[in-house]
Amino acid sequence: MFGKILIANRGEIAVRIIKTCRRLGIATVVVYSEADAQSLAVEMADESVLIGPAPAAQSYLLADRIIEAAKWTGADAVHPGFGFLSENAGFARALEAAGLVFIGPNPAAIDAMGDKIESKRAAVRAGVSVVPGHVGEIDDTDHAVRIAEEIGYPVMLKASAGGGGKGIRIAYGRQDVEEGFPAVRAEAKASFGDDRIFIEKFIENPRHIEIQVLGDKHGTVLHLFERECSIQRRNQKVIEEAPSPLLDPETRAAMGAQAVALARAVAYDSAGTVEFVAGQDKSFYFLEMNTRLQVEHPVTELITGVDLVEQMIRVAAGAPLSFGQADLAINGWAMESRIYAEDPYRGFLPSIGRLIRYAPPAEHERPDSVVRNDAGVREGDEISIHYDPMISKLSTWAPTRIAAIDVMGEALERFHIEGPAHNVPFLAAVMDQRRFRDGALSTRYIADEFPDGFHGAHPTDRQRDLMCAVACAAHAVLTRRNARQARTDWIVIAGDKRTVRIGDLGDAALEIEILGEGRTLRLTGIDWRPGAPLFSAVLDGEAFAAELTPAAEGFVIRHRAAQSRILVLTPRSAELHEKLPPRLPADTSNLIVSPMPGLVVSLDVAPGQAVRAGQPVAVVEAMKMQNIIRAERDGVVRSVGAKAGDSVAADEVLVEFVTP
Ligand code: ADP
Ligand code: ADP
Ligand code: MG
Repeated sequence: MFGKILIANRGEIAVRIIKTCRRLGIATVVVYSEADAQSLAVEMADESVLIGPAPAAQSYLLADRIIEAAKWTGADAVHPGFGFLSENAGFARALEAAGLVFIGPNPAAIDAMGDKIESKRAAVRAGVSVVPGHVGEIDDTDHAVRIAEEIGYPVMLKASAGGGGKGIRIAYGRQDVEEGFPAVRAEAKASFGDDRIFIEKFIENPRHIEIQVLGDKHGTVLHLFERECSIQRRNQKVIEEAPSPLLDPETRAAMGAQAVALARAVAYDSAGTVEFVAGQDKSFYFLEMNTRLQVEHPVTELITGVDLVEQMIRVAAGAPLSFGQADLAINGWAMESRIYAEDPYRGFLPSIGRLIRYAPPAEHERPDSVVRNDAGVREGDEISIHYDPMISKLSTWAPTRIAAIDVMGEALERFHIEGPAHNVPFLAAVMDQRRFRDGALSTRYIADEFPDGFHGAHPTDRQRDLMCAVACAAHAVLTRRNARQARTDWIVIAGDKRTVRIGDLGDAALEIEILGEGRTLRLTGIDWRPGAPLFSAVLDGEAFAAELTPAAEGFVIRHRAAQSRILVLTPRSAELHEKLPPRLPADTSNLIVSPMPGLVVSLDVAPGQAVRAGQPVAVVEAMKMQNIIRAERDGVVRSVGAKAGDSVAADEVLVEFVTP
């Protein structure tokens, strides 16, 4: 066994690997960029080595510098995590040449599988069912059109070297191919330095189901069942689970056997993932193989009890697998939510900034439920523009799928983040959707269910009661601090009006009688202090948590995806309140603002210029993504607030129109 392992990665996956090393008694070294000098991974590792400035190309992608760090610290082996150098056969070979062990598959297997065209060829040879298409490189646009028409529309144009959802384009007809082929080729060249493109059939309304495989250096290859990752946005995974609600034991066995056959064909000797798209009819087709640990590996760990990082380390050290296929079984159900720094209310635009508050739900491991949070950040850390915008991965386990979803919903309620925008309310919305709970998944799910984007969810009746109760309890705590108020009725305004009578039940409990409805809400176990962002209690026997923010008037309360502003007033103040003119938000319709912090790449309008609704006015880059900012209405430009090369904050004015 290794004495010391160097981790060539950052963030949550570096922390994840350190945890297993610690348990196995292996010392750890982590390499880091200047941006990560104060990171949790650096704090947790036994040693750390600075390898360069923030951009990955000058730090985490520098194979030579990482190998130097490994030699210098006396590490025996290197774990690459995912992303960065994890699927780089050259890196694996260079380590070997330096007398170090790469904790991953042999370089020939990476070569064979790292490239989508090559891996598809290998899959065909191994008898794996592949997506119908052209297993080869496309020369030019004419060739692309010819192949697309042979396959039949719709088709997918794909970069052979692509990954992370990039370098993919759907074509529904000839024109899409004519426009898309040069575009996807240019994108592939820019992103992956490799412009080889191939074309395959686009499977409509499919599901993404993948098989976890594990091999050793003694010829054993087995699979650890499937994960379903159909909840995707722009071909990138957001929510994953294991097992898949689609599969029956026969289909599972067939997919497992094909994945193992493919892995065997390349003498696969580590953890890896064989990805498939599956039709709703359970037909399935090979997509690609990822020759690394996968982001969503925790759900497999939760249903099998196998620590995949530990197995990768053991097999890299030459140990044979200590269990066989027959020893593996699916136990219960696991869910994973990727907590991203992005603003779901604004088209999921990437967000950055300091985590002013970072309070994840408590992790636990009980016989009937597990909550696990894989994070590489602490309160006060910065989500920077240089890397992946993932804040953490929240995973849950329970004996059944619905129970795992419910544990996830509860855990999301207790996840409190301030600073960067985040997608927790969006994830909670999905957990509460009937279609998701029914398991009717597809990679189109988010596009289908949120066709106009995400705007929060309408409160259910229970949520209306819950928010009313929270507001009354917070109000009672705040007024009790001053003087014991005379018994009086209160008016609760949350859109509509309710008259309530609040009864103090002593220690952390409250009774709220809703007059005119003949109902009484009972809140017990109230856990909240003025100033705390999270309110938790038990409402009519059911535990919950909600975010509570004092507003100029009343409170803003968010429970899962539903949010309301609620006022608690005496009858007299309520009367006055009704007479007040409604407070209108400031008129910003003559402004175009930057929707997120970023760098202005271009701003191509000038004072006096007429602009049409929908016309692009600026490009702002954030998180390595270029966002086109368009005019929302017709207008004439009065002034511009920024120029190419400027850094802008969220809501900073880019363009002001002449007021009509
Ligand atoms: P998985 O396939 O494991 O579910 P992703 O496809 O999201 O996960 O990619 C895994 C990680 O690797 C992510 O951090 C992603 O940003 C990164 N990644 C994947 N492919 C590339 C690539 N070609 N270039 C840069 N980063 C990549
Ligand atoms: P990446 O390397 O970026 O992960 P994949 O080939 O795995 O690329 O594709 C990413 C996602 O795109 C898949 O999970 C699936 O949702 C969708 N996809 C890819 N190929 C097809 C296809 N032929 N038909 C339908 N959807 C596809
Ligand atoms: Mg993929």
